[in-house]
Amino acid sequence: MVENKRVVIVGIPGVGKTTLVTTVVDKLNGDNKHASVKSYGTVMFEQAKKIGVNDRDGLRKLPVEKQKELQKMAAEEISNLKDDVVFIDTHAFIASKSGFYPGLPNHVLQILQPTHFIIISAHPSEIFDRRMKDKTRNRDKISIGGIKNELAIQESMLSSCSVLTGSPIKVILNNEGKVEEAADKVIKTIGYRRKIIEWE
Ligand code: ATP
Ligand code: MG
Repeated sequence: MVENKRVVIVGIPGVGKTTLVTTVVDKLNGDNKHASVKSYGTVMFEQAKKIGVNDRDGLRKLPVEKQKELQKMAAEEISNLKDDVVFIDTHAFIASKSGFYPGLPNHVLQILQPTHFIIISAHPSEIFDRRMKDKTRNRDKISIGGIKNELAIQESMLSSCSVLTGSPIKVILNNEGKVEEAADKVIKTIGYRRKIIEWE
């Protein structure tokens, strides 16, 4: 039996993960591949609502122990999906009062068993502008220097994930106005070709 691909997509807030991964899933489904995407934050929020959290961006303000429990429940739900490709839209870390908390601690990696790690990145000034322009979300305010720091922490968090699981990391740039190109790079990274879909 061929195992499915579980592709972790990380990127700092506002880099364009959700936009990009939605494009990737549409392309793959158009090519008759069963692909789905789960936003880790949304799955956790569904669980959190049951304990009275009503704001999606309020999740990261919960005590670390509570976040840990919700994280585990989300991992179990995602690991049961049977699509050919499951994209997991998440964060390498969450800025909390106690410091940077890992989005993919070992206990979560052991449940999810990701096959690929993809870091979505962009120029710090583009990320800054995207955060400022997006009025649909309640994102933390930050400077360009802060964004550069977040990009560095993200890389160090992801290299640990790669070592712990033995799965590769690829960095893909989501350049301004180039979502389609970035989506094609994601598809190639996980071993599919577009038009004639086949294993590389
Ligand atoms: P979060 O981690 O907070 O969920 P995200 O990484 O999922 O953020 P999105 O919500 O997908 O980010 O995108 C943030 C904003 O950037 C949106 O307004 C989106 O339309 C815009 N955006 C995404 N990709 C691009 C791109 N390549 N060019 C221009 N704008 C983009
Ligand atoms: Mg998102």
